[in-house]
Amino acid sequence: MKDYVFDLIEQEKVRQKEGLELIPSENYVSAEVLEAMGSILTNKYSEGYPSFDDLDKSDKEISEEILPNYRYYGGQVNVDRIERLAIYRAMKLFHADHANVQPHSGANANEAVYYAWCEPGDKILAMNLAHGGHLTHGSPVTRSAHIWNFIAYGVREDGDIDYDELERLALAEKPKIILVGYSAFMKIPDFERVAKIGQKIGALLMADMAHVAGLIAGGVHPNPLDFGFHVMTTTTHKTLRGPRGGLILSKGKVSSPLKKPEKTLENIPTLIDRAVFPGTQGGPLEHIIAAKAVAFGEALKPEFSDYAAKIVENAKTLAEELMSRGFILQGGGTENHLILVNVEKSFGFNGKLYEKALDMVGLTLNANALPGDKAAAFRPSGVRLGTPAITTRGMGKDEMKQIAEWMEKVAKICQEVSSEDDLGSLATEFAPIREEVREMALKFPVPGI
Ligand SMILES: *Cc1c(COP(=O)(O)O)cnc(C)c1O
Repeated sequence: MKDYVFDLIEQEKVRQKEGLELIPSENYVSAEVLEAMGSILTNKYSEGYPSFDDLDKSDKEISEEILPNYRYYGGQVNVDRIERLAIYRAMKLFHADHANVQPHSGANANEAVYYAWCEPGDKILAMNLAHGGHLTHGSPVTRSAHIWNFIAYGVREDGDIDYDELERLALAEKPKIILVGYSAFMKIPDFERVAKIGQKIGALLMADMAHVAGLIAGGVHPNPLDFGFHVMTTTTHKTLRGPRGGLILSKGKVSSPLKKPEKTLENIPTLIDRAVFPGTQGGPLEHIIAAKAVAFGEALKPEFSDYAAKIVENAKTLAEELMSRGFILQGGGTENHLILVNVEKSFGFNGKLYEKALDMVGLTLNANALPGDKAAAFRPSGVRLGTPAITTRGMGKDEMKQIAEWMEKVAKICQEVSSEDDLGSLATEFAPIREEVREMALKFPVPGI
């Protein structure tokens, strides 16, 4: 008999099929990405790196050659080809001189970059977590914050980055890294302006594009590497629609990872390779790297640009539909895939209550702090939602309108209670909405299920 775990996987399939995934950092991978992730490549140890030579050749050519490598184990012939393919496709996708496809997650990717460039105690200037930055950008609960000295810039009243504050802090503090990146921000950053500031002080310019990498790959969001940034980190599982994992792209000279190069901006690709392995990780997950290669291949196809454009179009439609129903949105709308609703200001209750109520009707999103939020971390004033996953399922304008309508209905019902503990008493009012959500969700299949 199969392990009980498989029963739970079956139940999760049902949950994914019958509900609508509005968490902006989630997506549905293709059947081929799933197949690569579940493959026998997990059996192989391959610490080190494949050869980086001739990576500008076509996919086919590089996959047929056997090249010398920088590995610590034998039997690398196929794994080398796969990892080279992943590296080559990532470089092409993001206009990079080098790609490290081994980080197990976005958090690992960020820490490897800090470790590659900074000495303990060095300063890193990054976006305030409460203003949309990520935990890995200096939250005191992380290991990074114990090693490096993080300084935070924030957003202005209008929701955009406070570039004047960023410049003032950069010139006064002279950080080793200036980091542009966020998990709850709905504007297009001005990379050119930040690059000019960084160049004045010789800082490493790093962009953490974990959320919008798929939009960059699809050509509907600017690429920081085109504007003088040295490094771009990302996850591969959000808008990029690959397996759960991390990726580091860089500009500079690629050389053997066996020798420690001088710490210069030009040598950043090799400094990063050494910081990933052996600096912060052991053996790479080659089944995940294979799935990354498959996902990058999908992202290189013209259809992916249509997908990326549709994500943004859907987000804009959803934002407008919500605003027309009295929802107050941070930044007054969206320029990407993500929407931040000020629930407290719109309806007078907190984001956690709203998140739980929406979960009861099959709409999944998450409560999120808003800039200047005084409420406790578990009772933030806002919710964050986005369109990458529902766009993968093929939804469009009509569905966005329908979702906004359900969200308004649920908000009105929530006004009847004062605490999330009382939501249970509203179950009968939520039930018909839950049925409508299920009915619509089932019309749009989840890939790979
Ligand atoms: C999601 C995210 C990460 C972390 O990725 P994990 O794979 O969860 O470690 C890092 N930075 C940003 C901006 C993110 O949104």
